[in-house]
Amino acid sequence: MPFQAEYIWLDGTQPTAKLRSKTRIIADGKKPTVWGFDGSSTNQADGHSSDCVLNPVFTCPDPLRGPKDILVMCEVLNPDFTPHSTNTRAATVAAEKKYGKFEPWFGIEQEYTFYQDGRPYGWPEVGFPAPQGPYYCGVGGAKMAGRDIVEAHTLACIRAGLSIEGTNAEVMMSQWEFQIGILSPVAVSDQLWVARWLLERIAEDYGVDVNWDAKPMKGDWNGAGAHTNFSTKAMREAGGLKAIHAACEAIGKKVMEHIAVYGHGIEERLTGKHETAPWNKFSYGTSDRGASIRIPLQTARDGKGWLEDRRPNANMDPYAVAAVMVETVCGAASAPAKKAVAKKAPAKKAPANKAAHK
Ligand code: ADP
Ligand code: MN
Ligand code: MN
Ligand code: MN
Repeated sequence: MPFQAEYIWLDGTQPTAKLRSKTRIIADGKKPTVWGFDGSSTNQADGHSSDCVLNPVFTCPDPLRGPKDILVMCEVLNPDFTPHSTNTRAATVAAEKKYGKFEPWFGIEQEYTFYQDGRPYGWPEVGFPAPQGPYYCGVGGAKMAGRDIVEAHTLACIRAGLSIEGTNAEVMMSQWEFQIGILSPVAVSDQLWVARWLLERIAEDYGVDVNWDAKPMKGDWNGAGAHTNFSTKAMREAGGLKAIHAACEAIGKKVMEHIAVYGHGIEERLTGKHETAPWNKFSYGTSDRGASIRIPLQTARDGKGWLEDRRPNANMDPYAVAAVMVETVCGAASAPAKKAVAKKAPAKKAPANKAAHK
């Protein structure tokens, strides 16, 4: 019997790409191959030459259909098979290849807000729910809106074989979080996009939307982020705190480069209030949830571990965030060797640099 493959991809919507998908019936025993779609309907092509290519990059069991059915995460290619301009994955693949020897790992905390009828799910039609306080990791009654959707999504992620690590209710009513990790730059991004798709698809059955906005409710309500936890092999080994501080310093030199891909509307969310640091001021500190980057207490105690960049928005593109993080941190970690050699013998700079990149 044939099976169903749900091809998932990112469209060309600005400033934040949306998820798209369509179903392909595949003959028994066959694998999902490249497919096409109408790019003029997804902001990815003009009407006169609208074909774009879907290239499968990650597949997993489809937890919502039959046992043989699958989800197929795709990258978008041009008709000549070069990466489409909306294909942010290609750069992440390149960064992972270039800096693979640093063994970069990510764990991403994805926050989001359920919506219905133009307001957060479960909020009263007029006025506001009780102020923030009881919702974060709360339990009970009408205040925990959407838990049945969260439960269904968690189970779906596990059945799909995704590396989901946990979930929790967030500070604002109807805001929740799940975490995906610990994985390589490309894997964490592929899996996060599939987990996002599953959440939207499951919420659909409840007549609920998933809002990925960084600051869905203005005023004294928490925004939604995607804390990005990151480490390299050097950070995880004994004495790794030194590498973590060096990473923070390197990131501090590229504040705007990072902010540029940390998601639309970041200045509305990173105000300095609600456990955030101002978006245009960089800081890092141990156990500090008001800093741009937090060094977790466990990491400070052990003298090794990872860093948590608290700035990325819920609506960020993990491909872009992972790529800039790896480029900045691993790029800086590659640099000292180059400089030291350059000082002693400038003529040998190129070969030494090459060796460092093996
Ligand atoms: P909190 O809400 O306190 O910030 P969470 O438990 O929600 O913490 O998230 C912690 C994240 O840190 C997880 O996604 C996990 O994968 C990630 N993490 C743990 N160790 C590492 C590591 N060595 N490198 C990268 N990420 C890590
Ligand atoms: Mn968390
Ligand atoms: Mn959180
Ligand atoms: Mn966090």
